[in-house]
Amino acid sequence: MQLHYIANASVPSVSDKTLPVIDPSDGKAYDEIQRGNAEDVDKAVRAARRCLDSVWSKLSGAERGRLLMRLSQKIGEHADELAAIEQRDCGKPTKQAKADALALARYFEFYAGACDKLHGETLPYQEGYTVLTWREPHGVTGHVIPWNYPMQIFGRSVGGALAAGNVCVVKPSEDACLSVLRVAQLAAEVGMPAGAINIVTGYGHEVGDALARHPGIDHISFTGSPTVGTLIQQAAAIRHCPVTLELGGKSPQIVFADADLDAALPVIINAIVQNAGQTCSAGSRLLVEESIYEKLLDRLGGAFENLRVGPAAMDLDVGPLIRQSQQQRVWDFLSDAQHANIPMVAQGQVVDDAPQTGFYQAPTLLRDVPVTHRLAQEEVFGPVLASMSFRDENHAVELANATHFGLVAGIWTQDGGRQLRMARRVKSGQVFVNNYGAGGGVELPFGGVKSSGYGREKGFEALYGFTTLKTVAIKHG
Ligand code: NAD
Repeated sequence: MQLHYIANASVPSVSDKTLPVIDPSDGKAYDEIQRGNAEDVDKAVRAARRCLDSVWSKLSGAERGRLLMRLSQKIGEHADELAAIEQRDCGKPTKQAKADALALARYFEFYAGACDKLHGETLPYQEGYTVLTWREPHGVTGHVIPWNYPMQIFGRSVGGALAAGNVCVVKPSEDACLSVLRVAQLAAEVGMPAGAINIVTGYGHEVGDALARHPGIDHISFTGSPTVGTLIQQAAAIRHCPVTLELGGKSPQIVFADADLDAALPVIINAIVQNAGQTCSAGSRLLVEESIYEKLLDRLGGAFENLRVGPAAMDLDVGPLIRQSQQQRVWDFLSDAQHANIPMVAQGQVVDDAPQTGFYQAPTLLRDVPVTHRLAQEEVFGPVLASMSFRDENHAVELANATHFGLVAGIWTQDGGRQLRMARRVKSGQVFVNNYGAGGGVELPFGGVKSSGYGREKGFEALYGFTTLKTVAIKHG
């Protein structure tokens, strides 16, 4: 039985209620988490405030940095344990779970080094004045995170917030809490002061909503769906609490005829099958120049047919989806495709020994998807790649920008001028040229435009969002 983690102690919920933890590989419950409520959130926020006022705000940047570095090292030592926890909780193949644990360690390492490097400026002003700016932490920050990359998103969000001098109350997804609860324990073991990291588990409409509305929360980082992003924004707006929103995407991979297809193909496949397509930055739309459309789909189709899907512990190309409702969501999209006569090019295969009760979905490649169809507009959040062809550069830009999202774009071309023109014209928070995702890129600011959200996490840029700027004008004659 898992408990909340508040002020460096495991505590049961005030409600005395629990929720089951389901293994997506076989659909069976194997543990329980606390079903928290507003009272639990209140306890965590108070613990965080006490920590901020009595300990955390008194530490220098260098002291905070040493703590975060010790946590990074501890996570590294426990990477296999954390990966095993995440694997069972989220259905991640071993390679992915291990990569996530190492990325978590890397976030704390990066932000450890940043703690004592966040400074203001002196500004030129009138004769007789000295004007300074200071970057001050918001105070108690709330973090509502999703189930697809719990460790990574915890690392980037909590790592950045702590580095900037804030303390944290975290609400993980009800579908994936276990790894972050363990990380909070590891943080206590390396000397993290009680109340700097607090975790309250439970449903979004209960715990997440209470966190967004709590008057003691000074900033909210939300990573999740656009729909819940709106609810968080509305809840926070009542008391003008600043919010960072990392929402979804329908990111295009744009392939021109002069692209190096040998380099592009494995990356395009990985960008849609990684984490079973449950990635906000999944390259879920494939836009291909007409003259190579047939050739590329032919090669991709062959590769899709070789993809194998099965239990997380088998460490195949693709693991299960997170839960039954997510599986149903993907099936609904595919049945819509069938009704709209959208051709299926190829599908991977679920292995025979995958339990019938697991939440599996074979990677699926679709072609000629109309730009207005929901398969080209909405996040499937499963391993489904929607492809279409374009005539020329202008048409490619038009298709790329024809959704409400704008998170990431991939551009594949050898033409240097076109690389830059496309990078400028595509509306998204990140653009990758002849690569996609840059291997995670802890150092690279990440976030969206349009319905993909606003504000940036990752990299040094995130620290600006976790602080507020104070201007001090001194008149001294
Ligand atoms: P979700 O929006 O359903 O849930 C995210 C979190 O919000 C969970 O912790 C959930 O419990 C909580 N929540 C739900 N209802 C709430 C409410 N009324 N008030 C407060 N909190 C509430 O998203 P999900 O299904 O967990 O994750 C998938 C979505 O997340 C996708 O849309 C994906 O694109 C997005 N995502 C975005 C990024 C990014 O960085 N841009 C990263 C990962 C996932």
